[in-house]
Amino acid sequence: MSGNGSLEALRRSGRIVIVGASLAGLRAAETLRDEGFTGSLTLIGDEPHEPYDRPPLSKQVLLGKATADRTALPRRRELDAEWRLGVAATGLDMTARRVRLGDGDEVPYDRLLITTGVRARPWPHPLEAELDGVFVLRTRQDAIALNRRLTAAPHRVLVIGAGFTGSEIASACRELGLEVTVAERGPAPLVGALGGVVGQVAAELHRAHGVDLRCGVMVTGLEGDSAGRLRRAHLSDGTALDVDVAVVSLGATRNTEWLAGSGLGAGPRGIACDAGCRAFDVRGIVTDDVFVAGDVARSPHPLFNYQFLSLEHWGNAVSQAETAAHNMINASADRRPHLWIPAFWSSQFGVNIKSVGVPSLGEEILIAQGSLAEGRFTGVYGYQGRVIAAVTFDQTKWLEHYQRLIETAAPFPPPWTTVDRRAEGLRPVPADFPDPSLPTHGPTVTLSGYSPTDRRITFTPARA
Ligand SMILES: Cc1cc2nc3c(=O)[nH]c(=O)nc-3n(C[C@H](O)[C@H](O)[C@H](O)COP(=O)(O)OP(=O)(O)OC[C@H]3O[C@@H](n4cnc5c(N)ncnc54)[C@H](O)[C@@H]3O)c2cc1C
Repeated sequence: MSGNGSLEALRRSGRIVIVGASLAGLRAAETLRDEGFTGSLTLIGDEPHEPYDRPPLSKQVLLGKATADRTALPRRRELDAEWRLGVAATGLDMTARRVRLGDGDEVPYDRLLITTGVRARPWPHPLEAELDGVFVLRTRQDAIALNRRLTAAPHRVLVIGAGFTGSEIASACRELGLEVTVAERGPAPLVGALGGVVGQVAAELHRAHGVDLRCGVMVTGLEGDSAGRLRRAHLSDGTALDVDVAVVSLGATRNTEWLAGSGLGAGPRGIACDAGCRAFDVRGIVTDDVFVAGDVARSPHPLFNYQFLSLEHWGNAVSQAETAAHNMINASADRRPHLWIPAFWSSQFGVNIKSVGVPSLGEEILIAQGSLAEGRFTGVYGYQGRVIAAVTFDQTKWLEHYQRLIETAAPFPPPWTTVDRRAEGLRPVPADFPDPSLPTHGPTVTLSGYSPTDRRITFTPARA
């Protein structure tokens, strides 16, 4: 459909299909109806549930403060939509504009939105992953199963990987009074997402709350008994631990396999799209009828050197879904770019952690307010002489201010001082991120693609 007449026809009686019926899919569907789309709307989701919220799964649900079946996402409005739940999309024919489903059905579309998100990366040894007592945490079913096991008073829980999810699980276990060991390959928890300076504060938090934290080690094997129940974990430092629960928190894998062979630019890093959420095909040509949003998308952002950002952030999923939905039913000139400033929150060990921008781009960090020793501070990250990100531990009220500095590419270190800046914040120090070529468990932002500012050209004049 092209041209004004056909756009009107699309808005009135077109067919829009959304694959991935979770946060981004729901918010996109609501936006489409809000903006006057009256055609047919189909949401396809492989989970049996209507959209639910994931952040509580590692927080309130593990603590028993909410049950997993009470996490349904609030609806912003009535949706006149067809829900195809419990069935996966298994293929895409971009020429015929049809989505193939696992039950053999095919669903035609005029515009398609892909919001298939990510799934938990499983334990790499399939037989060990099947042991009774080995868990991941991504879905409502995962949370129900893990919750049940944690309330059955296990002897010791092993959390493998100390990114945000792993740290939240460890925190919940301690709150439940359980013995917990956390094994992290990097030098500290959260190091991939927030760097080593902040990672040390996170490590102290774990230890102060009674976590047996082991950094710089990998879990090399999980061992079960004759009944297939997890009994022991082996670590790369030669030690072994008696454990009956292991929660694998090794990050996420993007749900793009179903698009193999479709011609769309989709792969392990997600689905590449332009700033207007239109997907690229494998030739790097932007499509006009396939859009992407949420955790599965990767899109360029001018504030981050036009590198492609993949964000596993709740707020990004909502904002990108709204932009994608708007752009799906509007003409080029009325479309909007998705220029959301990354923002993330986590609560663990009684501390409220929030970040804006992309900390993992930071070369240096300045503790602009508060102090690391007190565990209450604002860290500002600098990249090539400008403010690129900020993180707060129990100091949320300043975050908006730092967001504005990021948006305006303010100089780093900020040229003013604050009343509560301490001696440790007088000079920036290296942010201490691990080598980006080494995989870490924790980052919820992935930068990929090509950064124009990193281009190195050597000009060699011709000899006379
Ligand atoms: C335990 C946990 C805690 C979190 N805590 C925070 C937090 O504190 N702060 C924060 O900012 N973010 C947090 N997040 C991340 C946040 O929940 C995600 O960013 C958000 O859910 C992304 O929404 P989405 O719709 O893009 O993807 P998802 O929520 O992953 O949804 C994708 C949906 O598509 C389905 N799907 C996949 N493939 C197919 C297919 N082929 N056919 C049909 N359906 C398919 C999936 O099963 C899923 O239902 C947390 C996530 C988890 C798991």
